[in-house]
Amino acid sequence: RAKQNGRQRYEVFSEPLRRQAWDQLGLRAALRRAVAAGAVTVDYQPIVRVADGHLAAVEALARWRDADRGQVPPAEFIAAAEETGLIHELGMQVLEQACRQCAAWHRSFGPSAAPRVAVNVSTRQLLPDAFADRVLDVLDRVGLPADVLELEMTESCAVEPGARPALQALSAAGVRIAVDDFGTGYSSFAALRERTPHAFKLDRSFIARLPEDRPADAIVSAVLALAEPLGATVTAEGVETEEQLHRLRELGCGQVQGFLLGRPTSAAEIERDWLRPPRSLARAQEW
Ligand code: C2E
Ligand code: MG
Ligand code: MG
Ligand code: MG
Repeated sequence: RAKQNGRQRYEVFSEPLRRQAWDQLGLRAALRRAVAAGAVTVDYQPIVRVADGHLAAVEALARWRDADRGQVPPAEFIAAAEETGLIHELGMQVLEQACRQCAAWHRSFGPSAAPRVAVNVSTRQLLPDAFADRVLDVLDRVGLPADVLELEMTESCAVEPGARPALQALSAAGVRIAVDDFGTGYSSFAALRERTPHAFKLDRSFIARLPEDRPADAIVSAVLALAEPLGATVTAEGVETEEQLHRLRELGCGQVQGFLLGRPTSAAEIERDWLRPPRSLARAQEW
């Protein structure tokens, strides 16, 4: 009797937790099947050069549509992939799709019109010895020059000692290293002095507060002043309004990305909206 009550109580109190754990297991199993089937796809978001409105790069963003769950947000399935180790396989699939697409654009539109490609990588991916070789092998296989690829990582990843050999090997081969969500993490000036990235992506929490917020404005200016003599590119993330774009132009920010310029979309739409000559000319004139 007491045992039965205890069990009932246990069930009442743990039901939400149990459901959560169950959902997580289900999500992981479904993700494992999706990765095995090569069902994770890639969308591309334009990164635009402020000076002339030219498509400087595209950021590859992983997309997964599950039959039961619908479109699963990357924040959820990337976390699950990191926890299960699936991130190694998933990450290489995204990298290969993105590099293959970018190589095709380079062949069709030439190296000056075609964009660079930026691919997100998790810290865990950079720790195994084989990572740099696997990336260079993909570039080789799809025929993409190393300096057309930019790897985006968090600040903590860029300063993680275990990631150092991979970052050095990739840098030496010409691959560009970008610090994503810059300003929100844990990198120090000491770390930046030792290892200067090729690019900074200013987190959208700063951009969202432009132009009214004095501290945000000052931080954006400071990052631009820091990046310039280092020869590093700065991309402002999350640009959503004309006012933000106007202020970033005034401050001398090199590149912008955000819903104002374009949402993540298919390769076909990027091609139609940004790479086909008539449209890009029209855009340049509007710009
Ligand atoms: P992120 O690398 O910082 O990517 C930018 C995110 O901001 C994307 O979200 C994009 O859709 C969103 N975004 C772009 N412009 C705007 C804007 O103007 N306003 C707002 N509110 N949001 C904007 P998404 O696609 O949901 O990806 C979320 C995060 O998931 C990414 O953040 C990245 O950290 C991670 N992720 C996505 N794909 C991959 C991948 O292939 N590998 C790894 N390791 N992480 C990935
Ligand atoms: Mg990114
Ligand atoms: Mg980002
Ligand atoms: Mg971000």
